Amino acid sequence: MSPHVTDRYCVFGNPVAHSKSPFIHAAFAAQTDEQIEYTAIAAPLDNFAGAWREFVAQGGRGANVTIPFKEEAFRLCDTISSRARRAGAVNTLLLGKNGLTYGDTTDGIGLVRDLARQGVKLTGARILVLGAGGAVRGVLEPLLAETPASLHIANRTAEKAARLARDFADLGAITGGGFKDVTGGFDLVINGTSASLSGELPPLPDGLFATDATAYDMMYGAEPTVFLCWAGARGARPLDGLGMLVEQAAESFFQWRGKRPDTAAVMATLRESL
Ligand code: NDP
Repeated sequence: MSPHVTDRYCVFGNPVAHSKSPFIHAAFAAQTDEQIEYTAIAAPLDNFAGAWREFVAQGGRGANVTIPFKEEAFRLCDTISSRARRAGAVNTLLLGKNGLTYGDTTDGIGLVRDLARQGVKLTGARILVLGAGGAVRGVLEPLLAETPASLHIANRTAEKAARLARDFADLGAITGGGFKDVTGGFDLVINGTSASLSGELPPLPDGLFATDATAYDMMYGAEPTVFLCWAGARGARPLDGLGMLVEQAAESFFQWRGKRPDTAAVMATLRESL
């Protein structure tokens, strides 16, 4: 009888000790009866590719990739999904049977699935996205695929938002600019800036939200972010990014194991642990 070999997965980051991915994937594996080991690995800042090769040599089959390695992961892949190519970043690595490395990004589909699960309608919606960094670039293609009426990107550095809008202009009605040009009447406002990390609020006008609007912060924590408090006080429904985190993990898990876990149960446990 051949010895039982457990497939190995991990999340690469630096720092990575805070990552919730090992907990999430252990829960997915238990639920779906998959025998996997999933750990957090702090890759050296100057040798991400080496850390991936070493992991593969030790039986690694796939990995999640988080800050600051998403662009480096993109560069080391042999083949890449079209959505990851658009995003210019990879958060999911998969070792093919041929030994080649395949890369994808599941952040955007994670956001769209979480919004759908929470009953937020994207088709025909007027959407405002705040920020123009890596996280925002990664969610634009899946958001535009839902055919919103319009999608405007506002960023502290206006030119970055305008450039992003140009890069995605072939996919839908998308515009970009600075915070001072933001008008109002949005059905969904997604905060993809890292302002919440430092408890800051981008400068936004009072009439930002339409009736029955949703405010979504990609950040999450035990307490609502400054942005969600501000939005809630103006009548919008506040949602944080915990669901996005779990849904992107579920899509990675599906790519590795071919099974879709029950995200709601894992989300509830995670929420209690915050
Ligand atoms: P980046 O560093 O690539 O981009 C940061 C963005 O935030 C830029 O647009 C920057 O503007 C803007 N910004 C930073 N500080 C401020 C401020 N004080 N006021 C206004 N704007 C500000 O970061 P990421 O795109 O990788 O991440 C953004 C957020 O998304 C983080 O909070 C991260 O935790 C979250 N995230 C959540 C995920 C989830 O699964 N829930 C997944 C991925 C990310 P400028 O261009 O002018 O510098």
